[in-house]
Amino acid sequence: MTMKRRIAILGSTGSIGTQALDIISQHPDRFEVTALSAHSQTEALFEQVRRHRPKLAALTSKEVQIPDDLRFCDWYFGENALTDIASLAPCEDVLVSVVGMVGLRSVLAARKASKRVLLANKEALVAGGQLVMDACKAPAEDPALIPVDSEHSAIYQALLSANGNPFERIILTASGGPFRTWTLEEMKTARLSDALKHPNWEMGQKITIDSATMFNKALEIIEAKWLFDAKPQQIEVLVHPQSIIHSLVGFKDGALLAQLGMPDMRSPIAFAMAFPERISNGTPSLRLELSGNLSFEAPDLVRFPAIRLAYESLNATGAACCILNAANEIAVEAFIQGKIGFLDIALTVEQVLHDIGYLSADSLDDILYADDRARTIARGIIPT
Ligand code: NDP
Ligand code: MG
Repeated sequence: MTMKRRIAILGSTGSIGTQALDIISQHPDRFEVTALSAHSQTEALFEQVRRHRPKLAALTSKEVQIPDDLRFCDWYFGENALTDIASLAPCEDVLVSVVGMVGLRSVLAARKASKRVLLANKEALVAGGQLVMDACKAPAEDPALIPVDSEHSAIYQALLSANGNPFERIILTASGGPFRTWTLEEMKTARLSDALKHPNWEMGQKITIDSATMFNKALEIIEAKWLFDAKPQQIEVLVHPQSIIHSLVGFKDGALLAQLGMPDMRSPIAFAMAFPERISNGTPSLRLELSGNLSFEAPDLVRFPAIRLAYESLNATGAACCILNAANEIAVEAFIQGKIGFLDIALTVEQVLHDIGYLSADSLDDILYADDRARTIARGIIPT
């Protein structure tokens, strides 16, 4: 091993962020953390800074007093702190693992500073896909963007072994979430605690609710369109409750290439961090003889309208996907606060898309305007 890879982690106190730090702790000779960021968990961030000794740290929700023993690093506060550390951190890689569309500006800032983006934050691509992909043009052997989302990592890995052959289909697998077998009637009264019971993955709150509504898969359809330059009709969703096959790619000879593994995010995070090498990361090796039967079913677009809305938004072009994402962020927040019911999440998103109609998405200003407008309209629909 010659040089350590230096990495900045945005959203280091979250589910993805802490798993990335776990991988780094397993490979201290390979990685060096140069920047960390948290939003609200001040004490957890202090502990991480104590342990990993980054050069920069950011707290995005507020300004606080820094303990004497943590003054060795430069501190940034507030909304712009994310983009500050994405541009200023001395590093090769920036892992963007904050939740929500706030990730977009830091992705662009990291790219402006010629850093590779390891992207967990799917909302950035959903809202500003064209901007992100324009900023991430690079040769395949030295990519500017590596997906961390498990499905997209699987597709990325499958495509690496395709020797440049174009795919015909991308098949995103989906666990189906906790309501896969619930009736529409039952889903009407689903509580927050029901929605937070994900069958296979331990994740942050927002993505767990997105998995229950299948907005997570909706966002991933849009994410796949941008990452792999796929047409909407080339992207399929396949419900696979065991989450063992992480996704598949189909070619014109009829072959499907898949990537399989235990449902453990450390595997795709480590893949992105160590690219092109594969490193141990704590994910146990898959023993198919122990995993039981693998099953598959088509998604139910009536109980899960999110998937339909994703295709409609892609076909609508302009800022529709950005609007879908923003309305969903607000609706999920309202569901968590008990202001709306579970099925109202998709109804709110559909209503906002309908009310706003076409907006362009040619620049960052366009995206920020559409995002803001969608949030305002969504808040207007939601009872206070
Ligand atoms: P978490 O909620 O666990 O963590 C989110 C992180 O972002 C925390 O560090 C949080 O800080 C920070 N954060 C929250 N709000 C803001 C804000 N407004 N500005 C800046 N930082 C903020 O989320 P996950 O780790 O689960 O998910 C992160 C991203 O990765 C999401 O986009 C998700 O869709 C994606 N993803 C996650 C997967 C998973 O398994 N968890 C799988 C695939 C994708 P603090 O905690 O201090 O408030
Ligand atoms: Mg995923």
